[in-house]
Amino acid sequence: MKLTGFFLFCLLFVIALGTSDTPEESLRSGESLENKYFSSSSILSHYTGLPVIYAEVAGRRRRQRPYRNPLRRLRKQLRSEKRKSRRDLKADGSEVSQPSQQGDSTVSEDKVKAEVEAVQELPLQNKLGRKPSIATNHVFCSTEGCRGYHVLGPHPDHWIVGAGNYDIKKGNQRQMYRCKWCKKRFSETRGTVFFGLKTPQETVYRALHCLCENMGIRATARVFGVKPDTILLWLRRAGEHCEKVSAYLMRNLHVEQVQLDELWTFVFKKEKTLSAWEKLHTEYGDTWVWTALDPTHKLVLSLVVGEHEEEQAVNLLQKLKAVIVNGCLPLLVSDQLPHYVQAILKVFGRWVQPDRNGCRGRFPNPRLEPTEDLHYATVNKEYRNGKVSSVTTGVVFGSVKEVFTRLKALGMKKINTSFVERMNLTLRHLVSRLRRKGLTFSKKRQYLKWHLNLAVAYYHFVRPHRGLRRRLPEPIPTKGNGSPKKWDKRTPAMSAELTDHIWSIQELLTFRVSRIPSVCT
Ligand SMILES: [Zn+2]
Repeated sequence: MKLTGFFLFCLLFVIALGTSDTPEESLRSGESLENKYFSSSSILSHYTGLPVIYAEVAGRRRRQRPYRNPLRRLRKQLRSEKRKSRRDLKADGSEVSQPSQQGDSTVSEDKVKAEVEAVQELPLQNKLGRKPSIATNHVFCSTEGCRGYHVLGPHPDHWIVGAGNYDIKKGNQRQMYRCKWCKKRFSETRGTVFFGLKTPQETVYRALHCLCENMGIRATARVFGVKPDTILLWLRRAGEHCEKVSAYLMRNLHVEQVQLDELWTFVFKKEKTLSAWEKLHTEYGDTWVWTALDPTHKLVLSLVVGEHEEEQAVNLLQKLKAVIVNGCLPLLVSDQLPHYVQAILKVFGRWVQPDRNGCRGRFPNPRLEPTEDLHYATVNKEYRNGKVSSVTTGVVFGSVKEVFTRLKALGMKKINTSFVERMNLTLRHLVSRLRRKGLTFSKKRQYLKWHLNLAVAYYHFVRPHRGLRRRLPEPIPTKGNGSPKKWDKRTPAMSAELTDHIWSIQELLTFRVSRIPSVCT
């Protein structure tokens, strides 16, 4: 036992001795490993067999170790210098870009643009001094409180770098990124509809595309071999995402005319078939989709789902006011629903204090009055036996002459709501929940809202509108035997100059909404 213990001690001593010197040092001094362990002065020369085997193995291992390469150290120094210089540059930029915490929160657009240009002029180099191979301008950090939170590049606060990738199903890879401000690592799907989903993105695109083309939840689930609940999950995410995208892109619009209308549908049951208990549920029964349409660009400016009451009309007009540019007051046209008059006065009117009748007594109550540039006209339809018997028009606010001048400027001869009526039909074609007779009706109002958000964003950005197409100066021949292409297809968003091309459904669902609008548009 004592002898074995002594051998073990010697072995450990040899190992400790062997690891103390690096091969570089021994090579530099001109002493080979073999000579070292076989020299007569070595205390281990008695155990010749063991040190030789160990020396061979250890030497081979050391040669294989990459960090022993002296060039590696030089590269590391180079990297740290580059990193330091870049940090200094960023620090300089941040001093200029960071607004003071106390006061001026509104940074002028020129200043922001100048900063962006300054950053664009920076040398595009990564840590190793090469051009970065991974584009990161389309990605932002999703950590709340981070300096780069929801900031797309190029911007002084945008500092995202590539951070490797990982394998997902079927051999596909997913890119990872790192925020250099908060040091958090995140995947390319963070902040999109697809975060945390295991289904391939292509399947989700196709399923949501089907939902935008009048397919029901269960039909889509059967086609793609997933559960209906999975489709509902995708719909919820897509609806929330599209609402953000529409709110982000549709603002400060110049609108000449707006047509207002309501579309009937129902949730869970039709009103007349609801039981007494079901009537207590406020969301069940007849539901109305309130729409405000710009007939020039065919844009749905605002959309509200709710009851057939004045409150919803006010909501619709407040949303409309938030979308159009400040000071712009379009010509409003609707049907004869009385809720609109009060709603228009509440949103676009002004409070006036009338004079007293005599010189004594209290002043009359203040009342709402239309402004001089507010124009509102109605189309009055009379029904007999469920059919329209006569149609008359009238001007409620503003002068008749001014209303017809504005209509003439838009190429219209008479007051009408035909564009918004046609939009109702388009919505019924896009969203299966709006079918009058069928089983695809909504069971919950929130899902109807999400489905409408998705369908309207699809209608704005993805689906070309036939009424907006332009004739090409010369027909373009097709590659096959088909007839030449005569028309240039356009979407409502292209018509309103919100974008310059027809989006794919993929582009819509992966669009990232930045918190800095002036730089990204
Ligand atoms: Zn961050």
